[in-house]
Amino acid sequence: MRAVRYDAFRTPPRVEQVEDPACPPRGAVIEVHATGVCRSDWHAWQGHDDSVSLPHTPGHEFAGVVREVAPEVTRFRVGDRVTAPFILSCGRCAQCRAGATQVCPDQHQPGFDLPGSYAEQVVVIEADHNLVALPDGIDMLAAAGLGCRFGTAFHAVRTQARVRDGECVVVLGCGGVGLSVVQIATAAGARVLAVDVSPGALEAARALGAEPVPTSPDEPADDLVERLLAASGGADVTIDALGSARTASAGIRALRPRGRHVQVGLLLGEDADPALPMGRVIGLELQVLGSHGLAAGEYRELLEEIGDGRLDPAAHLGSIIGLEDLPEALVGLGGAPTSAGMTVARIS
Ligand SMILES: [Zn+2]
Ligand SMILES: [Zn+2]
Repeated sequence: MRAVRYDAFRTPPRVEQVEDPACPPRGAVIEVHATGVCRSDWHAWQGHDDSVSLPHTPGHEFAGVVREVAPEVTRFRVGDRVTAPFILSCGRCAQCRAGATQVCPDQHQPGFDLPGSYAEQVVVIEADHNLVALPDGIDMLAAAGLGCRFGTAFHAVRTQARVRDGECVVVLGCGGVGLSVVQIATAAGARVLAVDVSPGALEAARALGAEPVPTSPDEPADDLVERLLAASGGADVTIDALGSARTASAGIRALRPRGRHVQVGLLLGEDADPALPMGRVIGLELQVLGSHGLAAGEYRELLEEIGDGRLDPAAHLGSIIGLEDLPEALVGLGGAPTSAGMTVARIS
């Protein structure tokens, strides 16, 4: 098969002819029809993720058709249209049995510790447990983004924050996850305030139903918090979709008493252990919740709402490219994040 590979971090990836993957016990081989291009792929290529071994094929958000299943697999057959969450879980541990597959201690991720989906075929382990059947009405290109950004946003808004009709939600950061949060929270009946430094990102948030709150990197955090409190009257929910010490802290400080802050954006490098206003968390009985990906079992509701038109992941599609364009697209993710929507490659 053809696959994108790199032999060393930060060296140009190439499209190469490689051996077809073997189907592991209880697993499946998927013929990839579409794969998303995500900034996490760029971080892996930079060598920021120590689970990656070389040579490596990136890609963790995909949709396609089952090409081969191991004999133990009972729920899926060759030819089924499928996707999978980017966190592939074991299916046997206490977390998996409770449906919380996104925090399985024995998880694996294509494009990180497993070969990824920038390829004509990708392996999904524990296929009965991890594969998700795609209804016919859902396009492969739109489905490719469900496993990562749209699914991540769905889990944060619906499962973790439990956003309700009439609540006020502040979203900090309007990249791929943040804009998905805007759409999903708006669909849940929330009033959404969207914070970003980029006019393009704010315009995209406005188009999805949010009230834009422009800021700049040099605006003092106190001023931003004050403006958010004034505009919201104290937010019911804040979601840090960017991931920085500044946005995490501002999110917590912009809440009303007993509000919920959800941390979705990864806190990396010098922001890994930020100083947070825990006195406020105690005094106002705030909830601070982590959010990590999406459980395989949450897809049913997500796909239903896409099917009946309440949610539309296709609204976030940006440029559509081919397998041969993936190396350049991956390297290009190192530039400033754009708000032009998600880049997806059509593989077949
Ligand atoms: Zn991703
Ligand atoms: Zn597990």
